[in-house]
Amino acid sequence: MANLISVMGHCRRRGSQVILGQECHLNIYEQGGVAQIAGVHSHPLSDLPQGTLDLNELERALTRGFGSAYHPVCELVCLENTHNIAGGRVLPIDYLRQVRLLAHAHGARVHLDGARLMNAAVALRVPPAHLVEHCDSVSFCFSKGLGAPVGAVVGGSKDFIEEAWRLRKALGGGMRQAGVLAAAALVGLDEAEEVLPRDHENARRFAKGLQELASPICSVNPATVETNMVLVHVAGLPPTELCQRLQAVSAEEVAQTGRAVRVLLFPWTGRSVRAMWHRDVSAQDTELALRKWEFVLRQLEP
Ligand SMILES: *Cc1c(COP(=O)(O)O)cnc(C)c1O
Repeated sequence: MANLISVMGHCRRRGSQVILGQECHLNIYEQGGVAQIAGVHSHPLSDLPQGTLDLNELERALTRGFGSAYHPVCELVCLENTHNIAGGRVLPIDYLRQVRLLAHAHGARVHLDGARLMNAAVALRVPPAHLVEHCDSVSFCFSKGLGAPVGAVVGGSKDFIEEAWRLRKALGGGMRQAGVLAAAALVGLDEAEEVLPRDHENARRFAKGLQELASPICSVNPATVETNMVLVHVAGLPPTELCQRLQAVSAEEVAQTGRAVRVLLFPWTGRSVRAMWHRDVSAQDTELALRKWEFVLRQLEP
């Protein structure tokens, strides 16, 4: 809803256009709400591996049919930081600056889906405010790495937020009892500086550990692990089966290792799984997960 409100706040005219990455959350996980509810037309561009857009392609999309009565009017560019599908990759600050310059030069604004903005800030060791300097609005989740049970916020100029309040009400998002949710979100914010670097460190350690197992079944590139996610490429069996094996506990595991560990993971694509760290996954859990992974892989290898 935070993203939808932001798009609606920037795209007041039905049929106006938003440019975004094909693999971004807004494009694939939000029910096409910007079309369904806001009457906004999406122009998806292909994403580069780091979760960025090609700036030449972006400029072409921004300038196509400019001023023509045939083309939709482009009002907005949406970015995502960190980029989920890319594996929690962090957008470079200079890229953010260049997108803002391009968008503003062509009469469009920039919205940042910053669901994991705090992870990006921690990874770059800059204050989060530094990452939104180049954006006209931002959405942010308390329920991801920050660990609150629910909640998101929209940030923007005073006028923009006034309109956002109206839109939220119209979308059924008004809430009189938000205080108890805000309390949990504040705990998440207060502890982010301590929790997030630990999550990143655990993810990095896991990626390196998995690489050291040198298994033909699972491969990972530790250099791409920038925040709290690790994408693992899986060969030789479907990712869903790997996830099932990591979740199951067998008598053999107990006999061989003296442990009974369940690792819960998400099959990500047809050839990869996603491992994710948050405040309730400790360094010790990470080590146990790695040992379980080793046990499963050794069983599968010829
Ligand atoms: C989680 C998330 C959102 C918000 O999704 P909800 O399911 O509506 O909470 C938006 N963008 C990104 C990148 C996310 O990861």
